[in-house]
Amino acid sequence: MLSRAAEYALFSRMKNVVFTTAFAAALAGCGDRDTASAPAAPEPAKPSPSIVTTTEPEPSPVRVTGDPAQPKPAAKAVQSVQHEPIMKPTNAADPKIVKTEAEWRATLTPDEYRILRQKGTERAFTGKFDHHFKDGTYVCKACGTPLFLSETKYNSGCGWPAFYESIDNTVDETRDASLGMVRIEITCKKCNGHLGHIFDDGPNPTGLRYCVNSASMDFVPAEKKPSAAK
Ligand code: FE
Repeated sequence: MLSRAAEYALFSRMKNVVFTTAFAAALAGCGDRDTASAPAAPEPAKPSPSIVTTTEPEPSPVRVTGDPAQPKPAAKAVQSVQHEPIMKPTNAADPKIVKTEAEWRATLTPDEYRILRQKGTERAFTGKFDHHFKDGTYVCKACGTPLFLSETKYNSGCGWPAFYESIDNTVDETRDASLGMVRIEITCKKCNGHLGHIFDDGPNPTGLRYCVNSASMDFVPAEKKPSAAK
């Protein structure tokens, strides 16, 4: 009987050993399987791509967020469109005649060039228009732009042709501090040719005196005005 009890005890011990060994093996196997199933773990990682796939629909919202990137080029396009209208009026408002000094020298006499292009002054009482009072229009000698009407000309006694008014929008005025005094220089608006200076000691109705070099002007008689206007 004892031997049977011993057998039973031995059997139960062996059973425990076998069970423990099997369990330990199972645990060890699980570890291996975990490692083996580790590659399977990436598979669950695949679901994450599926999450990316879920994120893919988000890209559309991301594209919406990325749209600002697209709007930028669109904004650039708008800016470039804005530059065009800025340039157009600039070009339209600058019809000045531009020539090289060689070209001016070729079209003007030495005296005209010195006065018109180098801001010179003819000697007083020597200009051909100082005592010239015919009806017509005084034009720029360099470019032909009408500058003064004969009805605005008067004898100032200063030695140079004088006018109390210029034709609208044809003469520019610039501060001139040369020769130790401050004066207002007048130039042809279209070609920048030097005309003379303007003073505030003129007659009515303006009280101004446009003191102009004869060499800076040409004269177009009234009867020829229509053809000169062309
Ligand atoms: Fe001119």
